[in-house]
Parts: sequence; C-alpha cells; structure tokens
Amino acid sequence: MNDSTIKHEWSCADSQALYAMESWADGFYAVNRQGHVSVCPIEGQTLHIDVMKVIRAARAEGASLPMLIRFQDVISSRVRRLNLKFQDAIRECGYEGTYRSIYPIKVNQLHEVVAEILEAGQEFNIGLECGSKAELLAALPLVGDETLLLCNGVKDATMLNLMLNAQQLGQQVVPIIEKYSEFDQLMSLIDARQIKPRMGVRVKLNTRGSGRWFESGGASSKFGLTIPELVKLVRTLENREITGQLELLHFHLGSQLSDIQVLRSAVKEITQIYADLVLRGLQIRYLDVGGGLGVNYGADYNNPDCSINYGLREYANVVVYTVKEVCDERQVPMPDLLSESGRALTAHHSMLVVPVLGVHRPDSPPATDLPLELHAVVLRMKAVYNNVLLTEKGGILLECYHDAQEIRRETEQLARLGYLSVENMAQSDRFYWSICREVLHKLAAAELNPVPAEQLELEKQLTDLYLGDFSVFHSIIDHWAIGQVFPVMPLHRLHEKPERRGQVVDLTCDSDGKISQYVSSAGTVDCLPLHDFRQDEPYYLGVFLVGAYQEILGDAHNLFGRVDEVHIYARAEEKEGFWIEELLKGISVKEMLSQVQYFPNDLDRRMSEFIRRQINAGCIKPTEGTRILNNYTRHLEDTTYCDICAGDPL
Ligand SMILES: *Cc1c(COP(=O)(O)O)cnc(C)c1O
Repeated sequence: MNDSTIKHEWSCADSQALYAMESWADGFYAVNRQGHVSVCPIEGQTLHIDVMKVIRAARAEGASLPMLIRFQDVISSRVRRLNLKFQDAIRECGYEGTYRSIYPIKVNQLHEVVAEILEAGQEFNIGLECGSKAELLAALPLVGDETLLLCNGVKDATMLNLMLNAQQLGQQVVPIIEKYSEFDQLMSLIDARQIKPRMGVRVKLNTRGSGRWFESGGASSKFGLTIPELVKLVRTLENREITGQLELLHFHLGSQLSDIQVLRSAVKEITQIYADLVLRGLQIRYLDVGGGLGVNYGADYNNPDCSINYGLREYANVVVYTVKEVCDERQVPMPDLLSESGRALTAHHSMLVVPVLGVHRPDSPPATDLPLELHAVVLRMKAVYNNVLLTEKGGILLECYHDAQEIRRETEQLARLGYLSVENMAQSDRFYWSICREVLHKLAAAELNPVPAEQLELEKQLTDLYLGDFSVFHSIIDHWAIGQVFPVMPLHRLHEKPERRGQVVDLTCDSDGKISQYVSSAGTVDCLPLHDFRQDEPYYLGVFLVGAYQEILGDAHNLFGRVDEVHIYARAEEKEGFWIEELLKGISVKEMLSQVQYFPNDLDRRMSEFIRRQINAGCIKPTEGTRILNNYTRHLEDTTYCDICAGDPL
C-alpha cells in the first residue's frame, strides 16, 4: 500500500504546521492537546496557558468580545532575551563597553506596557525614548534619576526647557538634536539659564534602510543632521568650550529592517564618524543604533513586509562586533551601546480575540423543489450541471465551466430585459454555483499540473466570507494602511481538519474592512483554511502579534473603538496557570459619540420628545413608548461592537 492512501488523521501538529506557527510564534504560542491555542509566556518554563480558558475567565469577569489579551510575561521574556543576546555578544568578543536597550514608547504607550518593560529591564538598566511633548510629559515621572530618557522628534522651546529642568533635577534626560535649529534654540536657552546641557545628535547617514521604512534613513530622510551640519555643531561646541556636553551619536534606519547587511553598513558608517570625533577630542559616551529590529510575522521569506533575514542573536552580534572592529582599527575607546528596539519588545505580547458572527457562502445547493415551468435558458444550465456530475475529465470540466459562464451572461441579459422571472433567475443561479463547486472539487482532485487558471479563479470565487466582530481599522490598521501581514488562526477545534476556505471580513461598511492576506505554510495566501461554522457554537479567531503600533494608530471608522482588554500573568500556583490582573472595559457608545459631539443628555432629550409626540398623536401606547425609550438609553452604555456570540443566549 502506498503511503498516500493511508488515511491520515488530522492532528494538532498539522494545524500548527498549516498556520506556520513555527515561523511567527517565537516559542510563545502553540496548540495543546485539546486543540486550543496555548501560550507559554515565560522563557524556560513549561507553564502553558489555554487561551480558551482565558476567554472564559475574562467573560466571567464581565469582559465582552472582541477582546485584546495581553500576556505581560511575554513582554518580560522579550526584554530579557534581547538584553541577554547583547550581553553574550559583549562577552564573546571582549567588547569594552556596555549595552542598554531603550524602549521608544510610541510603539505602545499603555502605562502597564511601559511599566512592565521598565520592571523587566531594571537589571539591564533599560531606558526610555519619547518623541513628542505628550510622550515626554508621560515619561518624565517614570524614569527617576538613573534611567536614561532620550528625546527624539521635533522639539520646541517648551520641550527643551522641560528637558533642561529634568537635567537640573538630576534626571538622565538627553535631547537628541534632529535639526540644526534645535541646537541653536538649545544654545540660547542655556545662555539664558547659565547651565551646561547634556545632548546627543541624530546623524543622517548615507546608508538607507531596507524594507518599508527605508526613507527613515539615508540622505533624503526628514530626520537628522547632515555631515556639514554636524561639523558646524561640533565647531560651535569647541568655540564655546563645551564639547563634553555632546555625549551621544544616534541613527535610525526605519522600522522592521528586513536586511541585516544594511544595519551592518550603517553601524560601520556611524562608528567611523564616532572615531573621528573622538580623535578630535570629543568625549562621546554612547552610540545609539536606533530601532528597526524586526519581527517575523510569517513564513514568507521573499516578502520583506512579512519576514526578516536575521534573529536577535545575529542582530546583537552585528552591532557589537562591527563597532569593536572599527574602534580597534581606529584605536579609539569603545562606546557604550544603545538600541531603541520597540516592535521587537512588544509585538508578541498581545493578541486579539475575534468571534465569528456568521458565514456567507457564495454558493447555495441546487433546489429540489423546481418550479414546473423552467425557462429554456435555465434548462440549459441544468443540463450543464448534469454533465458535470457525469465526468471526471479535466478538459470536459473546463468546457462545462465555460458553458455555464456563457449561459450565466445570457440569463443576466434576459433578466435585464424583463424576460426572466426572479424564480427562474434563482434557479439558474443555484445551478451555476453548484456547477462551480463541483468543477472545482473535481479539478482539485485531478491534481492537474500546471493548475488551470480557471481553478484559481474558482477558488477565489468560492471563498467563504467569515464575518468577524471587530474592525480592521481599529485593531490592525497597518493591515489596511500598509499591507502588514498578521498571523490569524482559529483558537480552538485545531484537532479538526479545517475543510473550508475563508476570508475574514469586519463589521465596518467598507469594502476594505477585511483581512486579505494570511500566513500559512505555503507563504502569504489570499484565504485561510477555516472550520465549518456552526450557528449554535462559538467560533473564535485569534489575530496575533498586534502588540506594536496597532493600538495607538487604530482609528474610529464607523465609530468602532477601543475593545475590552485583559492583562494576564502566568502563575503556576493558580488552578489554570494564570490570573487576570486587570480588566479594562473598551470605549462605550456614549463615550465614542461624545468624541464626535453627540452628547447623551441631548440625544436622550430629543428621543424622548419625539416619542412623546408619537404617543400624543396616538401612534403608540405610553407603556410601549417608555419601553422603547429605555431600550435606546440603555444601549448608549454598550461597547461599540456586537458582542453576540453564537451559542450565547441573545
Ligand atoms: C519609531 C522609532 C523607533 C522604534 O522602532 P522599532 O522599529 O519599533 O524598533 C526607534 N527610534 C526612533 C528614533 C524611532 O522613530
């Protein structure tokens, strides 16, 4: 007996492979024996948390769906992993400086996320980076007098003054000069205040980033000083005899760097500049290689939006070894290294739970209750259907499909001219889709090589639409905005083979409100293998790696807003291996409406006046009027999503 004829039972491992978990889960997510997604949040521990149990516990505490789950321990694990890789590299090559990572809070400003990073990073001296006035004001009280706080971005006099105040207080706050005018402004402020500032400089390198954000680096970038500007700045410091105040050189190539060679080249470039300035007598202490450390969102190594060609270890090695090499060559002391990795610290820790509300299938089964009189054109469609049932031959199947397409065009024409009843149109449509389904099924079974274009076309047409209770624009806006691929998969039933193929669409009235690319073992694909949806049973999908950028960039299209969220800590002593540290309710309809200037009191008053008028006019009874008004008022407190789960009592 040949291997392929042995019927293979579907296993959890098959699901794990199908959704390419190996490529993106980074050891944190897997499938357990119950066929549920499980989370292993603490590096080096076997503790696994069943995501379905988290959902149940959160719902018991009053959380509604969709829901964002944060695994706080995953943040700490990533912080540790990054820092340990740099420590390893430093030890292995005998590097004579230290390394600190700096978390840029724009990636995820949520207080608990930042607090978790600071706590996990304490033993590694982790620092923060901010890029705006609001971020600066948020970060200042968090950093005490030991944590480094770097400030990038456009800085006005107010911000520079706030930073000088902080320096006066003994805080380690360093403005990174991005524009020459900021330097001029800083100089006039210190003249007025008679103090010596600490500062760093962002340099425009010739090396350009790779991947989507390549424009953040390179000579035409909107950020950083050009080399002539840098020289002018240094001369000014020399003339003022305050060269000791410039303590940091910085570059940033852009996010999600896809090619490690680009980083290597930029590090070489900046270290040469560093060496020059040190040999000229400056005492630069820090070399900051910026952010850009990427994350694998999938298994498609040809797609730079999705995958990177290096890991944490290689990233750390490239930075440490390259700086050492140049410093040895130029015989200058090795600087302390900084990196501003944001995405790499937070992307993995959170996931979105999306309940499926229903499924739309383009095809419907052929009718059994045929009306007595079918139009000739429908009879022809029926004949084609019968032919399809009788054949297995690829050529004939394709011919049948072409015939069906032609007959469909005719029916459409007849219908437009009024020659075809809706009853006949319905029958023709049903036969047409049955033909498509049958042809596709048989073509797939025939395993033709090459695959005929018609087969691909049919696959596309016959994709089910799974309606998810969420908004792409709020929760994964980068998918819509820049085509970022996020891993999506069912959270349960993973011991069952997913027999359907679907696209996930959202609640918004926008045809872009859908997930159009998926991670799979075959690379990036247009539709996702999913399970048959059962009306009376919940079916939950997970969207993974949403912890970086999505939450704060997300918008309020159709007034869908912030979702409920739970913060989970792993703990072996707890019965299910976890506890819910916090439940944050999402935005209510009422709050959402006030943001666009509809105020609950006013809405209520208008509604109640209208209802009173209808009562007075005798349209409805007063008791009904009151019921309708109360019903309206009550739902202003709801979340902005549906929160109807299959299997839930409505
Ligand atoms: C956005 C940004 C970062 C963070 O980049 P990641 O790709 O998330 O690591 C770091 N530094 C600067 C200056 C930035 O603008």
